[in-house]
Amino acid sequence: MKVTVDRNSGFCWGVVRTIEIAEERLQEERELYSLGPVIHNPVEIERLRVKGLTPIAHDDLARLSGKRVLIRAHGEPPETYARAKELGITLIDATCPVVTKVQERIRKFYDSGYQIVIFGKKDHAEVIGLVGQTDGQAVVVKSADEIGNVDLTRKTVLFSQTTMDKPTFYDIARVLREKIAEVVIGTFEESALDFHAKDTICGQVAGRDKKLREYAATNDVMVFVAGRNSSNGKVLYDICREANPRSFFIEQENELQPAWFAGAATVGITGATSTPQWLMERVQRAIETIA
Ligand code: SF4
Repeated sequence: MKVTVDRNSGFCWGVVRTIEIAEERLQEERELYSLGPVIHNPVEIERLRVKGLTPIAHDDLARLSGKRVLIRAHGEPPETYARAKELGITLIDATCPVVTKVQERIRKFYDSGYQIVIFGKKDHAEVIGLVGQTDGQAVVVKSADEIGNVDLTRKTVLFSQTTMDKPTFYDIARVLREKIAEVVIGTFEESALDFHAKDTICGQVAGRDKKLREYAATNDVMVFVAGRNSSNGKVLYDICREANPRSFFIEQENELQPAWFAGAATVGITGATSTPQWLMERVQRAIETIA
């Protein structure tokens, strides 16, 4: 049985950058807090915890005066920066530059009087940071069926949480265009970064669909490794399973079941943008041993 790891899977550069920033700062001093888990992967969180990175919730900020707190790749709303300043907390801002760009774009349209519609999940940390740019006024929708709260008389701009799927985004755009006289599709501005320019869905996620489909279809069995609360993991796993119904989702190697691999000649291992390469290699070794 041939077991391979998908060359196109693993951390996106935004997550790599966040972890590099955290590890650099941990070398200066072993005490560092991250506002929320630094990525949606419990195994990687534990590795960083051993080095001194402690995840905290917003309610914990009040007792961390004088300490250092990392803002993770998803970003934060302006209130968090203001609160940290008030409390004398040093913020280490590791917001992904792609997310920062979307925040800036939203703020600009909001300040110009546009109604902001965001395609995303309203409780997702990135979306909370995006909505924060609009004093909480943005309307968040998960599909075209949810545009009931959108004011159809106002000039409107549609943005996307960076990890959402393109077909739904363009469906929402189509419906808004049918109902509202002035609709702008929010994009990343031209910049040195290699962005996809037609929406604000991150190229690191969107580019993966096609390659993942191809890779999943060429293997008899697929093992998808990700944290269960990774939004990007869920999207990519659905694509994987569509291309190969013998796909299995795990967080780590102790969940593997030998029966999954019965009669398989090839097994592919892939993951979300928050899945570390070392973890997928560990899963690879485990499959080679058990199957
Ligand atoms: S998926 Fe894209 S937007 Fe999200 S952290 Fe990675 S590079 Fe940044």
